[in-house]
Amino acid sequence: MTQSLPIAQLGNSILRQQAQAVDNLDDQRLQQLIDDLIATVVESNGVGIAAPQVSQSDRLFIVASRPNLRYPHAPTMAPTAMINPRIIAHSPETIKDWEGCLCVPGIRGLVPRYQAIEVEYTDRDGQRHQQQLTDFIARIFQHEYDHLDGLIFLDRLETTRDIITEQEYLQRVLPKTSVG
Ligand code: ZN
Repeated sequence: MTQSLPIAQLGNSILRQQAQAVDNLDDQRLQQLIDDLIATVVESNGVGIAAPQVSQSDRLFIVASRPNLRYPHAPTMAPTAMINPRIIAHSPETIKDWEGCLCVPGIRGLVPRYQAIEVEYTDRDGQRHQQQLTDFIARIFQHEYDHLDGLIFLDRLETTRDIITEQEYLQRVLPKTSVG
């Protein structure tokens, strides 16, 4: 049965470990983990989630961008499992934008990421893909990829002044609903 999983919180050592390469996609545990990760990211209003965030040390994450309460302007794409992902190439330029993390509730940070990346990953059926990602989707990929190497978005900030609260962030990005 598919279930939403508990999310490891900042300070948990699993979030600082190098995740292990996935070598057997026929493993029932792995397919179940993918289903559970998708259920977890949808329920928690995330746009992506990596296996270490639910205390599983596997090189795999889900990208599931869609507009939701935490990211009102996110583009929509079907939840996609990306296994043993790699970044093959990236644009020279980076862009700074707000990120949050299910492991770091209540906080947003202004994180520089490559604007465009060329990536490679295996899907849940074992098919290898090569793809060009840009802007917000590229940002999600880089954020989740960092989780596989034990990095948190806070590690990427240029200054601690680029940290704000979730409440402040939502006030900035949501259109003002004026009541006169
Ligand atoms: Zn995260």
